[in-house]
Amino acid sequence: MRLNGRRQSSNIDDRRGQRSGFSAKAGGLGIGGLIIVGIITWLTGGNPLDVLNGSVSSALGGSGTTEEYVPTAQEEELAQFSRQILASTEDVWTEEFNKMGLTYEPPTLVLFNDAVQSGCGNATASTGPFYCSADECLYIDLSFFSQMRQNLGSDGDFAYAYVIAHEVGHHVQHLLGTLDKAHSQMSRMSETDANKESVRIELQADFLAGVWGHHENRMFNSLEEGDLEEAISTASVIGDDYLQKKAQGYVVPDAFNHGRSDQRMRWLKKGLQSGDLADGDTFTPSYSSL
Ligand SMILES: [Zn+2]
Repeated sequence: MRLNGRRQSSNIDDRRGQRSGFSAKAGGLGIGGLIIVGIITWLTGGNPLDVLNGSVSSALGGSGTTEEYVPTAQEEELAQFSRQILASTEDVWTEEFNKMGLTYEPPTLVLFNDAVQSGCGNATASTGPFYCSADECLYIDLSFFSQMRQNLGSDGDFAYAYVIAHEVGHHVQHLLGTLDKAHSQMSRMSETDANKESVRIELQADFLAGVWGHHENRMFNSLEEGDLEEAISTASVIGDDYLQKKAQGYVVPDAFNHGRSDQRMRWLKKGLQSGDLADGDTFTPSYSSL
């Protein structure tokens, strides 16, 4: 991607170097919010259940002490890149919301190391990037991108951008009411149907990431040869699961689900090609046709 000189977002909560990643903004936790987690279990070997097991804060003490934190040059580059991509999602979604007569309220990107407390519970780096609708934040441990690089054999910046844009896609779903409506329906569904609803949510977030890419390139002419292929091949190998934390505070492990690789590729591509939100209804078509 060509990003030289591009604006960096200021909607960043940089908690790198904080012992528990705990900040005032994340206070009043445990409100039983829903968590959308970008899990790459095959990639990290992490257990999705770790995310909400509450062991993180007790192990780390939760004092929020800031240590002398010196990121590597590579990590700083990724932090700057993430700020630029976030700024681009703000530009694109502000315009798209204006077209609908709506106002886009941007999310905050929380950068953390190792462990973090979110409005949806505790998370570790092994969770992968995730979005929490309860506090309207995206959470990313930048080491995730290094892992992507190792495991995907790609240093493709557009693939990283796609990961961020997918999480922003969940925020767009939240603002439009789609996410919360789907979650509330899921709470009344059988396990099988809730899994299908989850797939519909995830595929739409992929579509929305594609819509962002479409307009990013239209506004900034930023995509280079191979960029689209990078993102599409990433979509073909990652799984994005969600966790549902019930008000009682336990996790429903069998609710994990994500779209098949070919479905994820198809919806990302569709968004990239069309750029039109109207083409992104993943809730009405029959499940087999997704
Ligand atoms: Zn997702």
